[in-house]
Amino acid sequence: MSALEGNIDRIYAKFCRKLNMFMEQMYDAKSGLDKTFGAFNRVLRPGPLSGRRNEEVVRNRGNALAELQRNITDFRDDVVQQFEKNIARIATFLGIPTAPDEFDMNSPYRLRFDALFYRSRLIVLEESLRMLVALKDIRQTSQHTLLMTEGMRSMTISEAQVHLAALQNTIAECRSKDMKRLEAEFHLIQLCFHIVLKDAGVMSELEVDASLHKIWDLCHTYPDSAGLLANTYAAMKDHIRDVRRHTDLYSSRNVWWSWPRHTTGDLQHCKYGHPFSGTMWDSCLECGREVRKLATMDPNKLLKENDFVAAIKTQTLNGKSWRV
Ligand SMILES: [Zn+2]
Repeated sequence: MSALEGNIDRIYAKFCRKLNMFMEQMYDAKSGLDKTFGAFNRVLRPGPLSGRRNEEVVRNRGNALAELQRNITDFRDDVVQQFEKNIARIATFLGIPTAPDEFDMNSPYRLRFDALFYRSRLIVLEESLRMLVALKDIRQTSQHTLLMTEGMRSMTISEAQVHLAALQNTIAECRSKDMKRLEAEFHLIQLCFHIVLKDAGVMSELEVDASLHKIWDLCHTYPDSAGLLANTYAAMKDHIRDVRRHTDLYSSRNVWWSWPRHTTGDLQHCKYGHPFSGTMWDSCLECGREVRKLATMDPNKLLKENDFVAAIKTQTLNGKSWRV
């Protein structure tokens, strides 16, 4: 391993630890919001003079993730994106004698930080909807509070619409880079924004059935990468079809928790150039093994979905045991 490769390995290890740290902070913040929701409800005041006081408590909750989100976007834009853009140029500039392909890296890190950013916005928008329900229940509410709730509702809806549309490009980017797991992950995030809009009483432009089918297809065809999200897919589908409502739709954390366990010196690259930890994974986490496609891929007719999810779980159990 050249000195540059060794440095790249250490940099990726650092990115992985950062992802994990931000994720942990994000779920701590979310669990803080859940735990304090009862107290928030109790401090909301009825009556015409309560507007400013209510606004203050709403704003405090709305800003609970603001600093963390800034840290995520700063690190993504100032460090990860710059690194991904410049590393090949640096290798050439330094005249490092390596095959050009080695630095033609198809790095998934900026996209992983994008996923983190979208997750944090989801938590904020879901919290906003939950607060709106509580605010609606206030007796003799003030004009001030009424205006605030209208503003909150409209901002929540427009932000969810913006992210839902932007994710279309992110999904296309994953597809062009053969990142199957991230592609499925962004589809799931997009469905979460669709649910936000649905809960706000607004239609979204997302073609839900096509999106669910796409995720199913990805999980089925790439069981070692996209397939890791099969349980989340099943929960999402139940939630959307009102079979069973889940409060924590996006709990596929095992992959995220695995990243800091990488031991430097064991960085591998798959055939598409995605880096992955040889310490933790048998194959690339973003593309992985492709199973043969069957002629008819109708999840409703071909295979019952519960059986499908169980089958995927069994397949992943054959890998390293901590991954499920
Ligand atoms: Zn790969």
